[in-house]
Amino acid sequence: MGTLFLAVTAAPWYLFTFGIDPFLIGLFFFMLAACGFSITLGYHRLFSHLTFQAHWLVRLLTVVFGAGAFENSVLLWACEHRSHHKHVDHDDDPYCISKGLFYAHMGWLMFKLKPEPQFENVADLKKDPLVVWQDRYIHLLAVLVAFVFPAALGYAWGGWKEALGAFLIAGVLRVVVLQHATFCINSLCHYIGSQPYSSKCSARDSWLLAIITLGEGYHNYHHEFQHDYRNGVKPWQIDPTKWLIWVLSKVGLVKKLRRVPAEKILLAELAEAQRRLEQTLARPGLTETASAYLANAYHRLMGIAQQWTERKAQQLEVTREMLTELRREIRAATSILRLSGVRFA
Ligand SMILES: [Zn+2]
Ligand SMILES: [Zn+2]
Repeated sequence: MGTLFLAVTAAPWYLFTFGIDPFLIGLFFFMLAACGFSITLGYHRLFSHLTFQAHWLVRLLTVVFGAGAFENSVLLWACEHRSHHKHVDHDDDPYCISKGLFYAHMGWLMFKLKPEPQFENVADLKKDPLVVWQDRYIHLLAVLVAFVFPAALGYAWGGWKEALGAFLIAGVLRVVVLQHATFCINSLCHYIGSQPYSSKCSARDSWLLAIITLGEGYHNYHHEFQHDYRNGVKPWQIDPTKWLIWVLSKVGLVKKLRRVPAEKILLAELAEAQRRLEQTLARPGLTETASAYLANAYHRLMGIAQQWTERKAQQLEVTREMLTELRREIRAATSILRLSGVRFA
Protein backbone atom coordinates (compact mmCIF):
# COMPACT_ATOMS: atom_id res chain seq x y z
CA MET A 1 0.00 0.00 0.00
CA GLY A 2 3.00 2.28 0.70
CA THR A 3 4.42 1.76 -2.78
CA LEU A 4 0.97 2.29 -4.32
CA PHE A 5 0.60 5.56 -2.40
CA LEU A 6 4.03 6.81 -3.53
CA ALA A 7 3.39 5.66 -7.11
CA VAL A 8 0.30 7.87 -7.38
CA THR A 9 1.73 10.86 -5.51
CA ALA A 10 5.55 11.19 -5.48
CA ALA A 11 6.20 9.60 -8.90
CA PRO A 12 3.86 12.00 -10.79
CA TRP A 13 5.29 14.92 -8.75
CA TYR A 14 8.84 13.95 -9.86
CA LEU A 15 7.79 13.59 -13.51
CA PHE A 16 5.97 16.94 -13.41
CA THR A 17 8.91 18.73 -11.72
CA PHE A 18 11.97 17.18 -13.39
CA GLY A 19 10.55 15.41 -16.44
CA ILE A 20 11.76 12.07 -17.78
CA ASP A 21 14.98 11.19 -19.64
CA PRO A 22 16.15 8.14 -21.66
CA PHE A 23 18.19 6.83 -18.72
CA LEU A 24 15.15 6.61 -16.44
CA ILE A 25 13.01 5.07 -19.18
CA GLY A 26 15.72 2.47 -19.89
CA LEU A 27 16.20 1.67 -16.21
CA PHE A 28 12.43 1.34 -15.67
CA PHE A 29 12.12 -1.23 -18.46
CA PHE A 30 15.32 -3.04 -17.49
CA MET A 31 14.08 -3.49 -13.91
CA LEU A 32 10.58 -4.39 -15.12
CA ALA A 33 12.00 -7.13 -17.39
CA ALA A 34 14.60 -8.41 -14.89
CA CYS A 35 12.16 -8.68 -11.99
CA GLY A 36 9.22 -9.71 -14.21
CA PHE A 37 11.03 -12.63 -15.86
CA SER A 38 12.42 -13.63 -12.45
CA ILE A 39 8.81 -14.14 -11.34
CA THR A 40 7.44 -15.84 -14.47
CA LEU A 41 10.52 -17.87 -15.43
CA GLY A 42 12.00 -18.32 -11.95
CA TYR A 43 9.37 -18.23 -9.19
CA HIS A 44 6.64 -19.72 -11.37
CA ARG A 45 7.85 -22.08 -14.08
CA LEU A 46 11.16 -23.11 -12.47
CA PHE A 47 10.62 -23.21 -8.69
CA SER A 48 6.84 -23.72 -8.38
CA HIS A 49 6.33 -26.16 -11.25
CA LEU A 50 9.82 -27.59 -11.94
CA THR A 51 9.18 -27.41 -15.70
CA PHE A 52 12.93 -27.36 -16.51
CA GLN A 53 16.35 -27.45 -14.82
CA ALA A 54 18.53 -24.36 -14.61
CA HIS A 55 22.22 -23.47 -14.25
CA TRP A 56 23.13 -21.91 -10.88
CA LEU A 57 23.54 -18.51 -12.53
CA VAL A 58 19.90 -18.49 -13.73
CA ARG A 59 18.74 -19.66 -10.31
CA LEU A 60 20.79 -16.97 -8.53
CA LEU A 61 19.65 -14.15 -10.82
CA THR A 62 15.99 -15.14 -10.53
CA VAL A 63 16.00 -15.30 -6.72
CA VAL A 64 17.86 -11.96 -6.47
CA PHE A 65 15.77 -10.02 -9.02
CA GLY A 66 12.63 -11.93 -7.99
CA ALA A 67 13.07 -10.46 -4.49
CA GLY A 68 13.00 -7.03 -6.17
CA ALA A 69 9.48 -7.73 -7.44
CA PHE A 70 8.26 -7.38 -3.81
CA GLU A 71 6.21 -10.58 -3.99
CA ASN A 72 7.89 -12.21 -1.00
CA SER A 73 10.23 -15.23 -1.08
CA VAL A 74 10.28 -18.11 -3.57
CA LEU A 75 9.37 -20.44 -0.71
CA LEU A 76 6.16 -18.63 0.29
CA TRP A 77 5.24 -17.77 -3.33
CA ALA A 78 5.61 -21.37 -4.51
CA CYS A 79 3.80 -22.71 -1.44
CA GLU A 80 0.78 -20.47 -2.07
CA HIS A 81 0.92 -21.08 -5.81
CA ARG A 82 0.97 -24.86 -5.48
CA SER A 83 -2.04 -24.57 -3.14
CA HIS A 84 -3.75 -22.43 -5.78
CA HIS A 85 -3.32 -25.19 -8.38
CA LYS A 86 -4.39 -27.95 -6.01
CA HIS A 87 -7.48 -26.22 -4.61
CA VAL A 88 -8.35 -23.89 -7.50
CA ASP A 89 -11.76 -22.17 -7.06
CA HIS A 90 -12.23 -23.71 -3.60
CA ASP A 91 -11.82 -22.37 -0.09
CA ASP A 92 -8.19 -23.46 0.33
CA ASP A 93 -7.17 -21.64 -2.86
CA PRO A 94 -5.26 -18.61 -1.45
CA TYR A 95 -6.47 -16.31 -4.24
CA CYS A 96 -9.80 -17.94 -4.93
CA ILE A 97 -11.76 -16.21 -7.73
CA SER A 98 -15.06 -17.44 -6.23
CA LYS A 99 -14.50 -14.81 -3.50
CA GLY A 100 -14.61 -12.04 -6.09
CA LEU A 101 -12.35 -10.30 -8.58
CA PHE A 102 -10.90 -7.82 -6.05
CA TYR A 103 -10.18 -10.58 -3.52
CA ALA A 104 -8.33 -12.66 -6.13
CA HIS A 105 -6.42 -9.58 -7.34
CA MET A 106 -5.14 -8.07 -4.08
CA GLY A 107 -7.76 -8.47 -1.36
CA TRP A 108 -6.25 -11.83 -0.33
CA LEU A 109 -2.99 -10.02 0.51
CA MET A 110 -4.64 -7.07 2.26
CA PHE A 111 -6.89 -9.17 4.50
CA LYS A 112 -4.73 -12.20 5.22
CA LEU A 113 -6.70 -13.83 8.00
CA LYS A 114 -5.29 -17.32 7.75
CA PRO A 115 -2.04 -18.14 9.62
CA GLU A 116 1.19 -18.66 7.66
CA PRO A 117 1.06 -21.95 5.74
CA GLN A 118 2.94 -25.00 6.98
CA PHE A 119 5.11 -25.24 3.84
CA GLU A 120 4.34 -28.96 3.50
CA ASN A 121 3.94 -28.74 -0.26
CA VAL A 122 7.41 -27.22 -0.78
CA ALA A 123 9.54 -29.88 0.93
CA ASP A 124 11.75 -30.02 -2.19
CA LEU A 125 12.43 -26.26 -2.06
CA LYS A 126 13.15 -26.35 1.69
CA LYS A 127 16.17 -28.52 0.83
CA ASP A 128 17.49 -25.97 -1.65
CA PRO A 129 20.16 -23.78 0.08
CA LEU A 130 19.64 -20.89 -2.37
CA VAL A 131 15.87 -20.81 -1.73
CA VAL A 132 16.40 -21.03 2.05
CA TRP A 133 18.99 -18.22 1.94
CA GLN A 134 16.62 -16.00 -0.07
CA ASP A 135 13.76 -16.73 2.33
CA ARG A 136 15.89 -15.78 5.36
CA TYR A 137 16.98 -12.40 3.96
CA ILE A 138 13.97 -11.69 1.75
CA HIS A 139 13.00 -8.28 3.20
CA LEU A 140 16.55 -6.90 3.14
CA LEU A 141 17.13 -8.30 -0.36
CA ALA A 142 13.83 -6.86 -1.60
CA VAL A 143 14.70 -3.34 -0.41
CA LEU A 144 18.26 -3.56 -1.78
CA VAL A 145 17.25 -4.84 -5.22
CA ALA A 146 14.01 -2.91 -5.68
CA PHE A 147 15.09 0.51 -4.38
CA VAL A 148 18.78 0.82 -3.39
CA PHE A 149 20.13 -0.75 -6.60
CA PRO A 150 18.28 1.54 -9.08
CA ALA A 151 18.88 4.59 -6.85
CA ALA A 152 22.65 3.84 -6.75
CA LEU A 153 22.72 3.47 -10.54
CA GLY A 154 20.82 6.76 -10.82
CA TYR A 155 23.30 8.51 -8.50
CA ALA A 156 26.25 7.21 -10.52
CA TRP A 157 24.59 8.41 -13.72
CA GLY A 158 23.52 11.90 -12.70
CA GLY A 159 23.72 12.69 -8.99
CA TRP A 160 20.92 13.11 -6.45
CA LYS A 161 18.20 14.21 -8.88
CA GLU A 162 18.68 11.10 -10.99
CA ALA A 163 18.96 8.92 -7.86
CA LEU A 164 15.56 10.18 -6.67
CA GLY A 165 14.09 9.63 -10.15
CA ALA A 166 15.48 6.09 -10.33
CA PHE A 167 14.10 5.32 -6.86
CA LEU A 168 10.62 6.62 -7.73
CA ILE A 169 10.30 5.47 -11.37
CA ALA A 170 12.47 2.32 -11.68
CA GLY A 171 11.88 1.42 -8.02
CA VAL A 172 8.48 2.36 -6.60
CA LEU A 173 6.42 2.81 -9.78
CA ARG A 174 7.95 -0.30 -11.37
CA VAL A 175 7.13 -2.41 -8.25
CA VAL A 176 3.49 -1.32 -8.43
CA VAL A 177 3.21 -1.97 -12.19
CA LEU A 178 4.79 -5.41 -11.88
CA GLN A 179 2.76 -6.40 -8.81
CA HIS A 180 -0.49 -5.56 -10.57
CA ALA A 181 0.59 -7.44 -13.70
CA THR A 182 1.19 -10.50 -11.49
CA PHE A 183 -2.08 -9.95 -9.62
CA CYS A 184 -3.89 -9.97 -13.00
CA ILE A 185 -2.88 -13.62 -13.42
CA ASN A 186 -4.78 -14.47 -10.25
CA SER A 187 -7.76 -12.25 -11.00
CA LEU A 188 -8.40 -11.50 -14.70
CA CYS A 189 -6.84 -14.76 -15.98
CA HIS A 190 -9.59 -16.53 -14.02
CA TYR A 191 -12.24 -14.13 -15.31
CA ILE A 192 -11.88 -13.17 -18.98
CA GLY A 193 -10.87 -15.19 -22.03
CA SER A 194 -11.52 -18.61 -23.52
CA GLN A 195 -11.32 -22.16 -22.17
CA PRO A 196 -10.10 -24.32 -25.07
CA TYR A 197 -8.51 -27.07 -22.96
CA SER A 198 -10.87 -27.49 -20.04
CA SER A 199 -13.78 -25.79 -18.34
CA LYS A 200 -13.29 -27.79 -15.14
CA CYS A 201 -11.83 -24.71 -13.43
CA SER A 202 -12.15 -20.96 -13.92
CA ALA A 203 -8.73 -20.44 -15.60
CA ARG A 204 -8.85 -18.78 -19.02
CA ASP A 205 -6.65 -18.04 -22.04
CA SER A 206 -6.30 -14.42 -23.14
CA TRP A 207 -3.72 -13.03 -25.61
CA LEU A 208 -4.21 -9.55 -24.21
CA LEU A 209 -3.36 -10.68 -20.68
CA ALA A 210 -0.46 -12.71 -22.10
CA ILE A 211 1.13 -9.45 -23.32
CA ILE A 212 0.82 -7.85 -19.88
CA THR A 213 2.03 -10.95 -18.04
CA LEU A 214 4.99 -12.08 -20.21
CA GLY A 215 3.03 -15.06 -21.51
CA GLU A 216 1.24 -16.21 -18.36
CA GLY A 217 -2.11 -15.13 -19.85
CA TYR A 218 -2.60 -18.57 -21.42
CA HIS A 219 -3.79 -19.68 -18.04
CA ASN A 220 -6.37 -22.24 -19.15
CA TYR A 221 -3.59 -24.28 -20.77
CA HIS A 222 -1.38 -23.75 -17.72
CA HIS A 223 -3.97 -25.08 -15.27
CA GLU A 224 -4.58 -28.12 -17.47
CA PHE A 225 -0.89 -28.85 -18.04
CA GLN A 226 1.02 -27.16 -15.22
CA HIS A 227 4.26 -29.12 -15.76
CA ASP A 228 4.77 -27.80 -19.29
CA TYR A 229 7.40 -25.04 -19.54
CA ARG A 230 5.16 -23.36 -22.13
CA ASN A 231 1.95 -21.47 -21.35
CA GLY A 232 1.25 -20.23 -24.86
CA VAL A 233 1.72 -23.59 -26.51
CA LYS A 234 0.65 -22.75 -30.07
CA PRO A 235 3.38 -21.34 -32.35
CA TRP A 236 1.48 -18.05 -32.86
CA GLN A 237 0.81 -17.39 -29.18
CA ILE A 238 2.65 -14.59 -27.34
CA ASP A 239 4.72 -16.18 -24.58
CA PRO A 240 7.99 -14.23 -24.01
CA THR A 241 8.82 -16.39 -20.96
CA LYS A 242 8.68 -19.52 -23.13
CA TRP A 243 10.88 -17.83 -25.76
CA LEU A 244 13.44 -16.85 -23.10
CA ILE A 245 13.56 -20.38 -21.64
CA TRP A 246 14.04 -21.76 -25.16
CA VAL A 247 16.89 -19.29 -25.89
CA LEU A 248 18.54 -20.14 -22.54
CA SER A 249 18.32 -23.83 -23.44
CA LYS A 250 20.14 -23.15 -26.72
CA VAL A 251 23.07 -21.53 -24.86
CA GLY A 252 23.15 -24.32 -22.27
CA LEU A 253 21.89 -22.33 -19.27
CA VAL A 254 18.72 -24.42 -18.83
CA LYS A 255 17.93 -28.02 -19.78
CA LYS A 256 15.34 -30.81 -19.59
CA LEU A 257 12.43 -28.64 -20.75
CA ARG A 258 9.19 -30.48 -20.06
CA ARG A 259 6.59 -30.54 -22.84
CA VAL A 260 3.19 -32.23 -22.98
CA PRO A 261 2.97 -34.27 -26.24
CA ALA A 262 0.96 -32.58 -29.03
CA GLU A 263 -1.40 -35.57 -29.14
CA LYS A 264 -2.35 -35.21 -25.48
CA ILE A 265 -3.00 -31.48 -25.86
CA LEU A 266 -5.19 -32.05 -28.93
CA LEU A 267 -7.18 -34.77 -27.19
CA ALA A 268 -7.91 -32.36 -24.32
CA GLU A 269 -9.10 -29.79 -26.88
CA LEU A 270 -11.20 -32.49 -28.57
CA ALA A 271 -12.90 -33.49 -25.31
CA GLU A 272 -13.60 -29.85 -24.47
CA ALA A 273 -15.03 -29.12 -27.95
CA GLN A 274 -17.27 -32.20 -27.64
CA ARG A 275 -18.50 -31.10 -24.24
CA ARG A 276 -19.29 -27.60 -25.49
CA LEU A 277 -21.10 -28.96 -28.55
CA GLU A 278 -23.21 -31.16 -26.30
CA GLN A 279 -24.01 -28.19 -24.08
CA THR A 280 -24.92 -25.97 -27.04
CA LEU A 281 -27.10 -28.68 -28.59
CA ALA A 282 -29.06 -28.94 -25.35
CA ARG A 283 -29.80 -25.22 -25.41
CA PRO A 284 -33.49 -24.43 -25.99
CA GLY A 285 -34.56 -22.33 -28.97
CA LEU A 286 -31.96 -23.53 -31.49
CA THR A 287 -33.07 -23.34 -35.12
CA GLU A 288 -33.22 -26.56 -37.11
CA THR A 289 -30.27 -25.54 -39.30
CA ALA A 290 -28.14 -24.71 -36.28
CA SER A 291 -28.98 -28.03 -34.63
CA ALA A 292 -28.09 -29.90 -37.81
CA TYR A 293 -24.72 -28.13 -38.11
CA LEU A 294 -23.88 -28.72 -34.46
CA ALA A 295 -25.01 -32.34 -34.51
CA ASN A 296 -22.93 -32.98 -37.62
CA ALA A 297 -19.84 -31.47 -35.99
CA TYR A 298 -20.51 -33.45 -32.83
CA HIS A 299 -20.76 -36.77 -34.69
CA ARG A 300 -17.55 -36.07 -36.62
CA LEU A 301 -15.75 -35.45 -33.34
CA MET A 302 -17.27 -38.58 -31.82
CA GLY A 303 -16.01 -40.55 -34.81
CA ILE A 304 -12.49 -39.19 -34.57
CA ALA A 305 -12.38 -39.73 -30.79
CA GLN A 306 -13.43 -43.34 -31.37
CA GLN A 307 -10.66 -43.81 -33.95
CA TRP A 308 -8.07 -42.44 -31.55
CA THR A 309 -9.24 -44.70 -28.70
CA GLU A 310 -8.96 -47.74 -30.99
CA ARG A 311 -5.47 -46.78 -32.16
CA LYS A 312 -4.38 -46.22 -28.59
CA ALA A 313 -5.73 -49.65 -27.57
CA GLN A 314 -3.73 -51.23 -30.40
CA GLN A 315 -0.69 -49.11 -29.42
CA LEU A 316 -0.32 -47.85 -32.98
CA GLU A 317 2.05 -44.99 -33.70
CA VAL A 318 0.58 -41.51 -34.12
CA THR A 319 1.52 -39.98 -37.46
CA ARG A 320 1.87 -36.34 -38.38
CA GLU A 321 -1.10 -36.73 -40.77
CA MET A 322 -3.30 -37.97 -37.94
CA LEU A 323 -2.37 -34.98 -35.78
CA THR A 324 -3.14 -32.63 -38.69
CA GLU A 325 -6.53 -34.27 -39.20
CA LEU A 326 -7.35 -34.02 -35.51
CA ARG A 327 -6.29 -30.38 -35.47
CA ARG A 328 -8.50 -29.67 -38.52
CA GLU A 329 -11.56 -31.33 -36.99
CA ILE A 330 -11.17 -29.41 -33.71
CA ARG A 331 -10.76 -26.14 -35.61
CA ALA A 332 -13.92 -26.89 -37.65
CA ALA A 333 -15.91 -27.73 -34.51
CA THR A 334 -14.79 -24.63 -32.61
CA SER A 335 -15.58 -22.35 -35.55
CA ILE A 336 -19.09 -23.87 -35.75
CA LEU A 337 -19.43 -23.27 -32.02
CA ARG A 338 -18.29 -19.67 -32.42
CA LEU A 339 -20.77 -19.21 -35.24
CA SER A 340 -23.58 -20.77 -33.23
CA GLY A 341 -22.84 -18.30 -30.43
CA VAL A 342 -23.24 -15.36 -32.79
CA ARG A 343 -25.79 -16.42 -35.38
CA PHE A 344 -27.88 -19.22 -33.98
CA ALA A 345 -28.16 -18.26 -30.33
ZN1 LIG B 1 -4.57 -19.75 -11.71
ZN1 LIG C 1 1.15 -22.13 -12.01
